[in-house]
Amino acid sequence: MVRVIKKFKFQALLSLITIVSIAMNFYLVFLTPDEDLDDLSGDHDEAFFTETELDIPQLLEDAVIGRKDTVTSLLTAAGVAQPDVLKVTQAINQIFPLKSIKPGNKLVFDDIYKSYEGANEKVTLNKFHILTDQSKVEVILDQEKNIYTAKHIILPLETKTKLVTGIVKGSLFSSVKKAGVDPRAAMEFINLFSYVTDFQRDLRPGDYFKVLYEYQVNHEGKVMTKPKIIYGNLVAGNGEREVFRHVMKSGRVDYFDAKGQSVKRALLRTPINGAKVSSGFGLRSHPVLGYSKMHKGLDYRAAAGTPILAAGDGVVELVKNQVRGYGKHVQIKHNGTYSTLYAHMSKFAPGIRPGVKVAQGQVIGHVGSTGMTTGAHLHYEVVEKGQKVNPTKVSFPKIAPLKGIELAKFQDKMISTEKMVAELESGKKTQVAQGQATNQNH
Ligand SMILES: [Zn+2]
Repeated sequence: MVRVIKKFKFQALLSLITIVSIAMNFYLVFLTPDEDLDDLSGDHDEAFFTETELDIPQLLEDAVIGRKDTVTSLLTAAGVAQPDVLKVTQAINQIFPLKSIKPGNKLVFDDIYKSYEGANEKVTLNKFHILTDQSKVEVILDQEKNIYTAKHIILPLETKTKLVTGIVKGSLFSSVKKAGVDPRAAMEFINLFSYVTDFQRDLRPGDYFKVLYEYQVNHEGKVMTKPKIIYGNLVAGNGEREVFRHVMKSGRVDYFDAKGQSVKRALLRTPINGAKVSSGFGLRSHPVLGYSKMHKGLDYRAAAGTPILAAGDGVVELVKNQVRGYGKHVQIKHNGTYSTLYAHMSKFAPGIRPGVKVAQGQVIGHVGSTGMTTGAHLHYEVVEKGQKVNPTKVSFPKIAPLKGIELAKFQDKMISTEKMVAELESGKKTQVAQGQATNQNH
């Protein structure tokens, strides 16, 4: 609608200019002395006497491609003649599939003009470009050959770094997220610290955290990549813990403490994010059966549907649906020593079948209340050499620490990371977590 009104106004303006220009011609041809006419030379001359040439970018710049628009419809609406539209779309299709141009992308006219020869209106499209999320498709008219050529240019992404500090109030995840950390980075932060911190036992309100992460944005500031944690710091009941990102010579990315010891363990301490242990390991009065029974696992209370993560790399041993007992459950064999079991799932994750390899942290199913339960929770067991053991007491095996050149490279990176954190902090912006400003010197 706006376009139509604009066009209407534009045409009214055009008629006015045409009238003025006719009047000027009349004046120039009939009323001015000869010497004045001689001053009008070159391009100026042509513009006045042969056609009225107008640049019309104000009408056509930055057309955001709407849901019902196509390049063809937009060029047609701009008044480009059909044979030219066809040439343009063919040129684009040779280097970039037209169907990859999405709503929200922009069509920008760099050089387009309308001309009139008598009553005939002609739109000449010399140059325009389309901005997709990550690239630019540029179309130029070769005026001599009268052909359009298209070029596809990948636009570089810009890397942004963000440091956020905050105080724990409520769950660590919600505190980190509310402090302004991208939710995906917050999730990764929790995952990294879940290896070394028992959130339920060690974390207290008033504990605090620091997160340095980077992400990439496109030309419009839109976040294009999953954020990466560069550095994390958590001061909790069990002391201050730091994690540093490091890219190994092999290309594998891992996180290490300041000594070069991988923070990851062969098994996650908690196979579910942000859940609380609602029933510990040991003798208890069974909530359904009513008599005392050994509880040979941990129960995590969590909303139905919460993702359950594989505690470690391994192979799925068992996927079973029991009407009573464990309900829908999965067992994973991690190595010759450890297996883990996850029970009462509402559903299994796609592709989880016996014999399938799973990676640590991979979603294997969702919390539910299948089998013998009083409500939605995860029942989690760790089996060590055939014995069900208390997951909170297991000292999970560590991954080998960095050595030699790899350790030296890591230490260099660590120093530059610490320097970056110090610099970002010295430019002190007050960062807020749940309404509390943090100004601790850690
Ligand atoms: Zn249980």
